[in-house]
Amino acid sequence: MLVEQSATLLAMTPHALTLLERAGRVCYQSEGDDAASFVRMIIDRGHESVLEHASATFSIVCSRGISHEIVRHRLASYSQESTRYVKYGDISIVEGQYTDKMLAAIKFAEEAYTEACGGGLSAQWARNVLPIGLKTQIVVTANFRQWRHMIRLRTASGAHPSIVALFEMIRDQLQGACKVVFDD
Ligand SMILES: Cc1cc2nc3c(=O)[nH]c(=O)nc-3n(C[C@H](O)[C@H](O)[C@H](O)COP(=O)(O)OP(=O)(O)OC[C@H]3O[C@@H](n4cnc5c(N)ncnc54)[C@H](O)[C@@H]3O)c2cc1C
Repeated sequence: MLVEQSATLLAMTPHALTLLERAGRVCYQSEGDDAASFVRMIIDRGHESVLEHASATFSIVCSRGISHEIVRHRLASYSQESTRYVKYGDISIVEGQYTDKMLAAIKFAEEAYTEACGGGLSAQWARNVLPIGLKTQIVVTANFRQWRHMIRLRTASGAHPSIVALFEMIRDQLQGACKVVFDD
C-alpha cells in the first residue's frame, strides 16, 4: 500500500513568543511591549541561543530512508516505530518514484517477510528484507533554534525531494504558530 508522508504539530511551548522575549530581555535588562520586534532583533543579531527556550513536537510519517536522515540531527529527541517489535501484516511504502520492477521487488520482499514470520522467525530478523521505502512514524521534539537549523538544511536545493516536502510542511506549521521565528 502507498501512503502519503505527513508532519503534524503535536505540541509547542505555550506563549512561546512571550517566553522568548522575557528570556532575551534578561540579557539586556530591557523592557518593552513588542515581543515580535524584539525577537526579530535577537535573530538578526545571531543571538540564537535565546530561541532554545521554546520547543515544538511533530509526529512525522515518512519512509525509513527519510527518517534515517532526520535522526542524524543530534539536538533533538526521537520516538520511532520499531521494526523489531512491530510485525507487519501488509508492507506500506511511502509515495515517491517507483518503476514497475521496483514495486515487484517490494512485493517479493513482502512475501519473503510474511513467509519468514509465518515460519517462526521473529520480526527483528525478518525485518532484514524490508525496503527502505517502508512507511515509519517518528515523533520529533526539538527547540526552535534546532528546528530553524533543520529547516534550513532540509529545504535546501541539495536535499532529497521527499525531505524538502516534509520540512516545508513543518516550516509552514511553525510559521503559523510562531511567525516571527520562522518567517526567514
Ligand atoms: C543535503 C545533505 C546531504 C547529506 N549527505 C550526507 C551523506 O552523504 N553522508 C552522511 O553521512 N551524511 C550526510 N548528511 C548529513 C549531515 O552530514 C549531518 O549529519 C546532518 O545534516 C546533521 O546536521 P548537523 O551536522 O548540522 O548537526 P545537528 O546534529 O543537527 O546539530 C546542530 C548543530 O549543532 C552543532 N553540533 C552538533 N554536534 C556537534 C559536535 N559533535 N561538534 C560540534 N558541533 C556540533 C553543529 O553546529 C550543528 O550544525 C547530509 C545532509 C544534507 C543536508
